[in-house]
Amino acid sequence: MKMDRFCLDCGSKVTGRADRKFCSDACRINYHNSLRKKDEFLVNLINKQLKRNRTILEKHYRANRFYMPIHQLHLEGFREKYHTHTTTNGMDTVHFFYEYGITFENASMVHIWKEEFQKENKQQA
Ligand SMILES: [Zn+2]
Repeated sequence: MKMDRFCLDCGSKVTGRADRKFCSDACRINYHNSLRKKDEFLVNLINKQLKRNRTILEKHYRANRFYMPIHQLHLEGFREKYHTHTTTNGMDTVHFFYEYGITFENASMVHIWKEEFQKENKQQA
């Protein structure tokens, strides 16, 4: 007894070859387009958060506020979960948001750093 198969996009009954997943090319294309849009949506959401994090750190750094309560940054929309990379600075882990980094002084205070990036060929001393 064969099981009925249904289109992954529109839910209509699928006939024909056993490996068919869609009732039509239009449904197949639509299905893959919506998967891609979901991916793009998520990537855009994370990119926006990364840029927001950077903007917040940049603002305080430029105002010479190098030590900030993390709760204040959170109120401004900062979410340290989203960072671009990490390095270790002696014993501390520095979480970077592009060229701005933070280390935790304690549970409630962060120290804001700025990394001066140099061209690759100048990094070797
Ligand atoms: Zn369909």
